[in-house]
Amino acid sequence: MALSKIQTTTGTALPEELGKTLVHEHLLVGFPGWELDARAPKFKRAEAMARAKDQLQELIGLGVSTFVDPCPMDMGRDVEFLAEASQASGMRIICTTGAYFEAQGNTMTFRHLPLEEITDIYIQEVEDGIGETGIKAGAIKIATGLRVVTDYERKLVTAAARAAKATGVPIISHTEGATCGHDQIDIAAGEGLPMGQLLVGHSDGTTDHWYQRSLVERGAFIGFDRFGISLFQSDEVRIANMMKLIEAGHLDKILVSHDSISCWLGRPMPYAPTWDALQAMLPDWRSSHLLKNIVPKLRERGLTERDIDTLLVDNPRRLFSTGLNCC
Ligand SMILES: [Zn+2]
Repeated sequence: MALSKIQTTTGTALPEELGKTLVHEHLLVGFPGWELDARAPKFKRAEAMARAKDQLQELIGLGVSTFVDPCPMDMGRDVEFLAEASQASGMRIICTTGAYFEAQGNTMTFRHLPLEEITDIYIQEVEDGIGETGIKAGAIKIATGLRVVTDYERKLVTAAARAAKATGVPIISHTEGATCGHDQIDIAAGEGLPMGQLLVGHSDGTTDHWYQRSLVERGAFIGFDRFGISLFQSDEVRIANMMKLIEAGHLDKILVSHDSISCWLGRPMPYAPTWDALQAMLPDWRSSHLLKNIVPKLRERGLTERDIDTLLVDNPRRLFSTGLNCC
């Protein structure tokens, strides 16, 4: 039986309460094994919390009211940190169940568990909560690697589709190099998941308009969700490709975000040897960049306030409410 409300780290919300939403951001991320790196700077929780609170309050000042952190279970997910940051800042935060792709995830356990058990674990984290925390996942994360979906990834994506169908929560995906979006759609659609419940993430990492257009033409949401990460794509290309999709009539399928990371657990390998070096390399990669710098550029390109609200309010609301039995 599908849920009737959206689950957040601090309770439930109605779709119309989400408001301006960033659908893919992170407070904490650590690559699997980060705790092995004894030479990395020690994680200081209080400092990380203060930093997260400042960033979230800056976003509230910019009109954002919901922050979705689709951290996979195996990338340092800490839902109590998220709930505490939510309470400290006043920002609504949604967390996820689900795991990362095979080449970069912590794969030993799920490699050996059958599909049915992984499905049940995802459902349990949505319906009953994560560990002993009582905090429930409000979405499911999936991830596939570069160009080829491995058997491991296929099993996890299938489990996610079944769990999303059973509970009504959406799926938020990771793709590598903007590849395998169609495989994600094929698997989810094959399990009977409505495509309005699937966000094919990181699809802005290509110049290929036709790849992007073919995803939305199948009914999925598309993520232009790495604004500020010039390492993968320039914002100018992201904006130009978004405008092409909008001109083709797909404004209602685009979701925007940054995939920002407030604090790293361990070192931000493989991208840079230190967090400061990474920030110096990517000065715009912060969760306020869209509202401060990109939205004005979208207005210059002719988008109206209504169009901006479609991107930041209506589309996230529809992603999170498609599967609910409330509306
Ligand atoms: Zn991410």
